[in-house]
Amino acid sequence: MKKTSEVDIKALRSDILAGLDAPTLAEKYGISETALGKLIVQLIENGDLGHEDLATLYSVSQIVHALTWECPDCHKVVPAAYEECTECGNRRK
Ligand SMILES: [Zn+2]
Repeated sequence: MKKTSEVDIKALRSDILAGLDAPTLAEKYGISETALGKLIVQLIENGDLGHEDLATLYSVSQIVHALTWECPDCHKVVPAAYEECTECGNRRK
């Protein structure tokens, strides 16, 4: 297994947008699906992947769903580690 820091995140982003599913991505990049999820969350935090991108990518969005929550007010996708929205500061409900 590779470390997530060794993954080419720009290439990963392209493959996600190309519609590769989660198991394929995990195998291609030699990482676990959990690590893949964390990288996807990182892409979301960086603003490289939008919620609208994920909505069309069912397999990937399932993983993201387990690792994030969506702010009911501003619809920002927030990593599960945060109890408050990183955009508007609302608490997780
Ligand atoms: Zn918010």
